Amino acid sequence: MATMTLGEFDLIARYFTRTPRRAALGVGDDCALIGPLPAGQQLAVSSDMLVEGRHFLSTVAPDRLGHKALAVNLSDLAACGAEPIAFTLALAMPRVEEAFLDGFARGLFALADEHGIDLVGGDTTAGPLNICITVFGAVPGGQALLRSGARAGDALWVSGALGDARLALEVFRGTVALAGGAFDSVRRRMECPTPRVALGQALRGLATSAIDLSDGLVGDLGHVLARSGVGATVNADALPMSAALASMPRALQYECMLAGGDDYELLFSAPPTAAREVMAAAEKCGVAVARIGRVEATPGLRIVDDAGALLAQRFTAFDHFRAAP
Ligand SMILES: [Mg+2]
Repeated sequence: MATMTLGEFDLIARYFTRTPRRAALGVGDDCALIGPLPAGQQLAVSSDMLVEGRHFLSTVAPDRLGHKALAVNLSDLAACGAEPIAFTLALAMPRVEEAFLDGFARGLFALADEHGIDLVGGDTTAGPLNICITVFGAVPGGQALLRSGARAGDALWVSGALGDARLALEVFRGTVALAGGAFDSVRRRMECPTPRVALGQALRGLATSAIDLSDGLVGDLGHVLARSGVGATVNADALPMSAALASMPRALQYECMLAGGDDYELLFSAPPTAAREVMAAAEKCGVAVARIGRVEATPGLRIVDDAGALLAQRFTAFDHFRAAP
């Protein structure tokens, strides 16, 4: 562990140490102890890193950053249908700023409390602002939702609404303007995404494949199609969008919904015969779902409009090695 000027251990004690509710042993020893897991459950593990300038803007409030850092990780557990248990946090920051830490910890723990999970360990060091969280979840053995299960004939679904985070980014970039209230709502979607944890678990046994949308629908669906060895047709006019995005020109709507990242909605496939059950499961979780296309045996992704005509517009997935936000 590197040492920070203002005391790494004081910092951890003050901001990041709480009595664990579920983990057997939390922050403060060389290792945390999680479990034992209920019989037959598998441990689901995922890590996501947030780097300033790549994954978030310097204008974001610390509490929202704390929320988002955990939310994007919980979204990965949601995509697997896992129940979150605990997480670790590795945090590098240029200097110890108590106002930042106070806000960051508040946002982080508010979301952790919402899901009843413990921060069980991690590390802090001086360095460029960089947040890495690893989440641990539990899923009944063999029931995790995978990217590889989509079958020709399945319907494709997404949760929530798409494209708001990208629209907020375009406002920050100055390419479009939005009225105050509309901007606040899309900015909130970018900075404070809602991981669809309950929906992911409700889809176990119903969905044949799932992924969370972090880099844009076209790119993320591409992962599912590649892993499943299938193709798909998506109706761009069936994609769900917010009122704010609906007020924008059609080409921008398509770009935001198909290529915009940071939605953290679930994209999943299910047999058409399961449609009623899918809608019932979503309703129980209080999340909207929309049917957006179908899985096909023919490889490749075809994006069409309501009339069935192929869209001429090209869409590129967000790539963190190529583009800064
Ligand atoms: Mg993911």
